[in-house]
Amino acid sequence: MRVSRYLIPTVRENPSDAETVSHRLLIRAGMIRKLAAGIYNYLPLGLRVIRKVENIIREEMNRAGAIEILMPMVLPAELWKESGRWDVYGKELLRFKDRGGREFCLGPTHEEIVTDIVRKEVRSYRQLPLNLYQIQTKFRDEIRPRFGLMRGREFIMKDAYSFDADDEGAERSYQAMYEAYSRIFSRMGLKFVAVEADTGAIGGTSSHEFMVLAESGEAEVVTCSSCGYGANRELAEVAGKEIPFPSGDGIPRPEEVHTPGARTIEEVSSFLGVTPDRLIKTLVFTTDKGEVVVAARGDRTINEVKVKNHLGASWIELAPDEVVRSVTGASTGFAGPLGLSVPVLADFSVLEIQDGVTGANRDDYHLVHVVPGRDFAPQAVSDFRLIEETDPCPRCGSAISITRGIEVGHIFKLGTKYSEAMNAVFLDRDGREKFMVMGCYGIGVGRTVAAAIEQNHDDDGIIFPITIAPFEVIVLPLNMKHERVREVAENLYEALQKRGVEVLYDDREERPGIKFKDADLIGIPFRVTIGEKKAEKGMVEVRKRETGETVDVPVEEAVERIVEAIREEYVRCQGFWKE
Ligand SMILES: [Zn+2]
Repeated sequence: MRVSRYLIPTVRENPSDAETVSHRLLIRAGMIRKLAAGIYNYLPLGLRVIRKVENIIREEMNRAGAIEILMPMVLPAELWKESGRWDVYGKELLRFKDRGGREFCLGPTHEEIVTDIVRKEVRSYRQLPLNLYQIQTKFRDEIRPRFGLMRGREFIMKDAYSFDADDEGAERSYQAMYEAYSRIFSRMGLKFVAVEADTGAIGGTSSHEFMVLAESGEAEVVTCSSCGYGANRELAEVAGKEIPFPSGDGIPRPEEVHTPGARTIEEVSSFLGVTPDRLIKTLVFTTDKGEVVVAARGDRTINEVKVKNHLGASWIELAPDEVVRSVTGASTGFAGPLGLSVPVLADFSVLEIQDGVTGANRDDYHLVHVVPGRDFAPQAVSDFRLIEETDPCPRCGSAISITRGIEVGHIFKLGTKYSEAMNAVFLDRDGREKFMVMGCYGIGVGRTVAAAIEQNHDDDGIIFPITIAPFEVIVLPLNMKHERVREVAENLYEALQKRGVEVLYDDREERPGIKFKDADLIGIPFRVTIGEKKAEKGMVEVRKRETGETVDVPVEEAVERIVEAIREEYVRCQGFWKE
């Protein structure tokens, strides 16, 4: 592709509304342009990257036995009402009516639609298992779309849905997708981990998230290098639950002390001169199952997701001041677990406290000499806190690390949630009608591109792994007016294309500095520079974007040497040369 005939509108300045590296670089490299909040045009270079990502996904989904289909983006309300999600999905579901007054929505996900296809077309166990997928545009009316392709309202997604006759089959389908996803992100040259995750709004029994590791990631990921354990920090279990209640031997009865204005753990611990690990932190939450009070050791962080899951609640929020007052009789900052009428849950870290301090449920007062078990009886003692970097691996006891990651893929075991709601049944071997057991599997295509950039960039721009780069090589003549330079460049451009190399040819009559800056910004893995002096001597310079290494190569060997370098890079990135 000749740059002079192409559309790569690079920008020097950072766009003012772009908060993340990938957002800035995608705009600056001329790959995307915003049309409306969370809605983007994909310009030629950006679309090439999107297509590369899609093709790797498609190849690996096909290899795993999944079958590609395409469902509509405009979906009738009836199916969403059948599953019950029309009412619970909230405002992210963009609803509208057609000219006949019939209700529709823009598809944010397609469980209902694919279940409808399968229940109509599949009757017998002989037709199972079945895994159908699509790569398609979705719409979620996010309240705060931001970060460019990371959290758009309209976005391209690969979504797959598996249907099996029984749980064992569903487990095999899930494993096949787990392995396919691992191959997909490996082939893209990305550092990633698969972690156990919350099933959230999609529902179902278990799930894994595939996280691309990047400092800018929105989620915290716990990993163990000894045993390979990985979990979203919100879900990571904390080991060591089996500790007894403290004896309370020799500890006096609780006593009120005046602690004017001391509300936070830091304020109370410095006011009373006790370390935070002797404080019993007590928080009041509101949930759809009512109010609940949760206690933990003062230096620990209460994990709302674990509390929510323990209660079987669908939402949880820190209680506002007026609710704290109605539950405890005091303002926020003076709550304690003693003498309350709502359920008290205790993280097991509380049992490590022999002689504790906690709120007195009275403004400006705390209680000292509080003994868990003796002075208050929690309804449940369990793991209700966030894992810390100092905690051991819950599987093997080794040290863990906590890093940040960007979720690019999510796989779920759905069980029979949708097949029961929508009566998706088949006739089994024994002639009985049974519900299909489902799984669903998503990859955010644009999000993967953004995550790849978050992980692979430097001050000059993007450093694309070769398998998803828009082009493999950029041929960059320094002076188009110089006859020998132009001749070498033109010949190289033609010859590389004949060898099947994807070449971008910067044939613009621009200054070298501008061409170099653009080449670095758009992240093409190899650059071939043709300068006057070297061209006269029959040499060109080959430079690797990632490392900056350069090597001078004779013109007559250039094509073979470049093809070889590209081949090596593919093998390094994905384990094999492109097909
Ligand atoms: Zn481990």
